Amino acid sequence: MKKDFIFKKINNLKGVGPQLSKYLKKKRIEKIKDVILNLPYSETDRSKIFKLNSLEVGKIQSIRVKVRKLNFPRVRNLPNKIYCEDETGKIDIVYFNSREGYLRKLFPLNTWVIISGKIGYFNRKYQITNPDYVTSLDKEDYVIKNIPKYNLTKGINEKKYRSISEQVINNLPYIDDWIDINFIKKNKLIGWNEGIKKLHTSNEAKNLKSKSFRRLVFDELCANFLALSENRKRIKKTKSPKIFSNKLSDLTIKKLPFKLTDSQIKVLNEIKSDLTSNYRMFRIIQGDVGSGKTIVSLLSILNVIESGYQCALMSPTEILSRQHYDLFKKIFQNKIKVEFLSGKTDAKKRKDILKNIKNGEINCLIGTHALFQKKIEFKKLGLTVIDEQHKFGVRQRSELANKGGNDCDVLLMSATPIPRTMMMSLYGDMDISKIEEKPAKRKKIITLSKPEKKINEIWPFIRKQIDDDNQIFWVCPLIEKSSFLDYSSAKKKFELINKKFPNKVGLIHGALDKEDRDQILNKFLNQEISILVSTTVIEVGIDFPNANLIIIENANKFGLAQLHQLRGRVGRGEKQGNCILLFKDGLSKNAIKRIKILKNSDDGFFIAEEDLKLRGFGDLIGYQQSGIKNFRFADPISHEDLFELAEKYIRNIDKVDLIKYSFLLKLFDKAEIINVNEL
Ligand code: ADP
Ligand code: MG
Repeated sequence: MKKDFIFKKINNLKGVGPQLSKYLKKKRIEKIKDVILNLPYSETDRSKIFKLNSLEVGKIQSIRVKVRKLNFPRVRNLPNKIYCEDETGKIDIVYFNSREGYLRKLFPLNTWVIISGKIGYFNRKYQITNPDYVTSLDKEDYVIKNIPKYNLTKGINEKKYRSISEQVINNLPYIDDWIDINFIKKNKLIGWNEGIKKLHTSNEAKNLKSKSFRRLVFDELCANFLALSENRKRIKKTKSPKIFSNKLSDLTIKKLPFKLTDSQIKVLNEIKSDLTSNYRMFRIIQGDVGSGKTIVSLLSILNVIESGYQCALMSPTEILSRQHYDLFKKIFQNKIKVEFLSGKTDAKKRKDILKNIKNGEINCLIGTHALFQKKIEFKKLGLTVIDEQHKFGVRQRSELANKGGNDCDVLLMSATPIPRTMMMSLYGDMDISKIEEKPAKRKKIITLSKPEKKINEIWPFIRKQIDDDNQIFWVCPLIEKSSFLDYSSAKKKFELINKKFPNKVGLIHGALDKEDRDQILNKFLNQEISILVSTTVIEVGIDFPNANLIIIENANKFGLAQLHQLRGRVGRGEKQGNCILLFKDGLSKNAIKRIKILKNSDDGFFIAEEDLKLRGFGDLIGYQQSGIKNFRFADPISHEDLFELAEKYIRNIDKVDLIKYSFLLKLFDKAEIINVNEL
């Protein structure tokens, strides 16, 4: 097989038509190379031929039998039967929906055949229904062996998939290893060609610590780090430094109703030194919920505007953008012209804004994705800020960075706490600023847990909150992925709560359109209602200083990190924040441990690390949703050492020869990120 062939679509293989392609796609197999990455999870042992007197019902076994009689009743619902025997006994082979001609060919009368399948028992007789393999004696080698077991889906059985995978695995192209042989030896890895073959023909794919599996993990990580570091090189081009002024921001700091934390000041200075350097800024502020990232971005924006540039601030939702806009307007007063743009801005207003952005009248534009999707020409864009950046992947990140031309500095913000191991593999292309401390006055959120059946005990507490003019979030179960269930359970809960507290409750869920959702959120923001019942859609980042209680149902369905994020919706003002986690009965030991961590810590990074340790990576629902689980093979716990090793390996490459690594990048779908597909 030619090297390039494996990057072609799967339907280039023999026997793969449109229907099968569709099924394979469900298993993430679209290109031929995806067959290479689809590892077996086990093997089926068909290697021994059993006599009919030593069969075990329920097991997959292989037999050698003589065809004695074929019976085709030709009545609907009655199966076709082939009676077979060996010198020790008899067995029926049963087929539903199989054509007579086909079976007659497969089972020539009075001939010995090899059959392999699951042994059943019916009417005091052994039988195999729809056997996996039937073949003549001369082809028994194809069946009588250990056969790798792949995760399959409807429409593809083992035999079918084998015909596909063997075309690829038995003809793998020889690849010049991109990793140096000495390095491979020293780090107890294995050569690419040998390793990949082993993964498909031995049990090593099952073992996360096997040499061949670790080699694949190392490759996956290298592809990732390489893409990030190339992305960084492309973004971090030289620019003209901004002539810097911070009079306005100093003045603003003095007028703030609070003192900046040391962390905030440190991060501000890091940004300042980027702005005045010869290289573009490509920086992310990592700070837990409520750590005060917004004000840091505002002050940086102020500096850039004062230096004669325009700024853009984008956030993922309308309401969050609106909230930023209101804050900026209040603080900027009339000195600086700030405008708001979203998909909903009417045509006339939009036209005005576009005009004034182009002629430089508007200094700061705040909004949603609309800022980037539409053709907006800035007169002199100096800084782009993107809030809650975890909504975007690496690819979008590099796209966004390119929007403002080569001179535009880029600042991202994210509250998603990320375990240490993951930091480099996610943000390796950026400089990282951390806001480590939270504003001092903030009280720690009190976290309680309760079994769901004792829900009656919390009504008085809720009533008291309402009487005290506090507000409450009520997050409803995340049951399964089904949004319908999500929706109905939230709705039911809404009805129950609304009965208890009429006219004080609002409901938002994924099935509402954005407009209705925003309307209800605004009602809550304006304190027209006291309780907001929602599915897990409550917006990230919104500041509801008046909300002091969040109730989370079915809390064990969430990752710790996600619970922490949800909890961060309350306790943002002066008031004591409270969080009640409701559980179905019978908590596991693990679940109890998790609650304890949450009760005892309000440090998002610590919680994320603990969550990782307790649940393992694959289970972190929160991570999956936030796009952080971006590895297929690498596991930050089992392969922690490889994360470091791969990062170092890529960092130490003197001059990256992208042609040498193009196979690797394409294999892991990283090529588009840095446009090396044509190599
Ligand atoms: P996040 O980092 O989650 O985006 P925000 O920027 O929305 O957090 O800030 C949360 C709240 O904390 C806001 O109401 C903000 O005014 C307030 N805040 C920010 N910095 C400080 C500070 N240094 N001291 C006290 N309150 C602060
Ligand atoms: Mg925020």
